[in-house]
Amino acid sequence: MSKLVIVGSVAFDAIETPFGKTDKILGGAAPFIGLSASQFDIDASIVSVVGGDFPQEYLDLLSNRSIDISAIEIVKEGKTFFWSGRYHNDMNSRDTLVTELNTLADFNPVVPEAYRDAEYVMLGNLHPIVQQGVLDQMKTKPKLVVLDTMNFWMDCALEDLLRVIKNVDVITINDEEARQLTGEYSLVVAARKIHEMGPKYVVIKKGEHGALLFHDDSVFYAPALPLEEVFDPTGAGDTFAGGFTGYLAKTDDISFENMKNAVIYGSTLASFCVEKFGTERMENVSREEVHKRLQQFKQLTQFDIELT
Ligand code: AMP
Repeated sequence: MSKLVIVGSVAFDAIETPFGKTDKILGGAAPFIGLSASQFDIDASIVSVVGGDFPQEYLDLLSNRSIDISAIEIVKEGKTFFWSGRYHNDMNSRDTLVTELNTLADFNPVVPEAYRDAEYVMLGNLHPIVQQGVLDQMKTKPKLVVLDTMNFWMDCALEDLLRVIKNVDVITINDEEARQLTGEYSLVVAARKIHEMGPKYVVIKKGEHGALLFHDDSVFYAPALPLEEVFDPTGAGDTFAGGFTGYLAKTDDISFENMKNAVIYGSTLASFCVEKFGTERMENVSREEVHKRLQQFKQLTQFDIELT
């Protein structure tokens, strides 16, 4: 069974969408990644930090999905990372209202001994120095390192971010962030520039418009499933990344052809994430439901055309 190390924020989120509002629910990159990756039979461990205010039930929720939580440090006297965001009417864009790093501000990650030989590493969204710190602790070179980040770190830790980007195989990033990182409007040019920064594979997420996978001169595009209800897009990008990496770890095949399937799996899992607030939908989505939606995905994108 492949091992996967996941590093990322574990948070309280307060979210506002046109459909409603929540107060301090479970959020953060790592829970979304972990819940998504737990759809596959792999051995995943989350490396993160929370404060003494973090409820045990949230930790139980993760460990009940067979995710190793021994490396989620609890700083008793500290407060958990808090993020708040408000979505616009199109649900594709949002404003960050609050980012309180709290215990995340001076977090020193410790990868459990048993996971230092993991074949797969998912560097989820948090400070790039922490992401690099996790890579530095790996005893053997992982087969694949995937990195996700966001504009916040480009604004406040660009040099550190560029340093860790050099050391990863795949980057998943949304379209606006790819433009910010490269200063290029064209996503094709932006992907090429990101290749030059290090990653051999670049995944650009375009929210409800799907995702693009770039590798050398090859491009693959997967649409997002057209959904009747989009309730809360928070965590969709992390869910995508967790599904993408989880699928690759499960199949243990990192060819470009297999990465196309990983993009489809990631998109399918993300389509569940947006149906409820926060992690709620990802907590109970069944493999049967996922398989049914994968079939829908196939139908959506398959056609047979005769050239005239
Ligand atoms: P996504 O919608 O995939 O971009 O991810 C949203 C999640 O990212 C939320 O659950 C937040 O708690 C988390 N998040 C927001 N800002 C940051 C940040 N600066 N560092 C780490 N995680 C963050």
